[in-house]
Amino acid sequence: MIESTLFESHFDLIPFAIYAVDVATHEIIFSNKQFRELFGDHRGTSCHRALYDLDRPCAFCRIPDLVTRDGQPNGRTLVFEHFNDAADCWFQLQERAMAWPDGRVVKYSIAVDISELKKTQNQLAEAHAQLALKNKDLARLAVTDPLTGLCNRLRLDKVLADEAARLERHGRIFSVIIADIDHFKRINDEHGHAAGDAALRDLARVLARSVRATDTVGRFGGEEFLVISPETDLAGAGRLAEVLRCRVAEVTHAAGGRLTMSFGAAQARSGEDPSKVVGRADAALYLAKAEGRDRVRLADVPAD
Ligand code: GH3
Ligand code: MG
Ligand code: MG
Repeated sequence: MIESTLFESHFDLIPFAIYAVDVATHEIIFSNKQFRELFGDHRGTSCHRALYDLDRPCAFCRIPDLVTRDGQPNGRTLVFEHFNDAADCWFQLQERAMAWPDGRVVKYSIAVDISELKKTQNQLAEAHAQLALKNKDLARLAVTDPLTGLCNRLRLDKVLADEAARLERHGRIFSVIIADIDHFKRINDEHGHAAGDAALRDLARVLARSVRATDTVGRFGGEEFLVISPETDLAGAGRLAEVLRCRVAEVTHAAGGRLTMSFGAAQARSGEDPSKVVGRADAALYLAKAEGRDRVRLADVPAD
């Protein structure tokens, strides 16, 4: 008896909740001080009644995993995490079957409160999720023009390089259109910079709405836009530019009045640097301006 009490009092020195359950009857035959402080003294009661107020063993009872068919310890130690509603705590449980000094076979459980650890893990997971979202936002912002929401020069250069590579490797043609607002300076001068910004946003929206889903529209510079049209030849680009020109001219701006745009289109040539096709479209745009604005001009048809 003294030996047994000594043996059991040792467990009060361990800073984890410990309890032992008779594997045959599920009766709690021992619990240390930490366990009793958390759950009360339930010695003599079954663990399912004491801990979960159930009439029969819990569905997740681990005893069958810890004993042989004839109820002897099988030598396994189970380690798992478990949330206990009553204590409102996360525990890491270590369980194994062993022979108790009185000869009975018990399931011996050590429960370590890992609630703080779980809280930190959850905070970390949340921080990771937030970071992933922020990274996604940042990646999008890096290629977006803040005023119009269209893609910016960085993105346009990437799309141009990708299209040039596709043309060279697979012969997939593409064309570009540069669009420049006519006499835009006047809007700023007569109605102020904010009115100019609003008009830029209006026209960006019209351009973005008027192209195919596979086309890319971006802000190329101040009041210039670039459209990249895959699988489109020069004639197709010319037709698209004409559609854009008409739609742009239909918009009434908040500052009052309408704006027109001039367009230059060019088809890319295999093997040339992407800046060349943009240069030819720009030269065509220059012609459109020189000839009176509000029109579309095409660069030379590609030689090949
Ligand atoms: P053109 O028909 O020859 O193209 O005449 P333009 O007045 O449009 O051309 P110009 O290059 O002389 O002027 C472009 C104007 O665009 C001048 C500049 O202040 C204005 N601009 C460029 N970026 C912005 C912007 O982000 N917001 C506003 N409000 N104005 C801008
Ligand atoms: Mg202009
Ligand atoms: Mg310009």
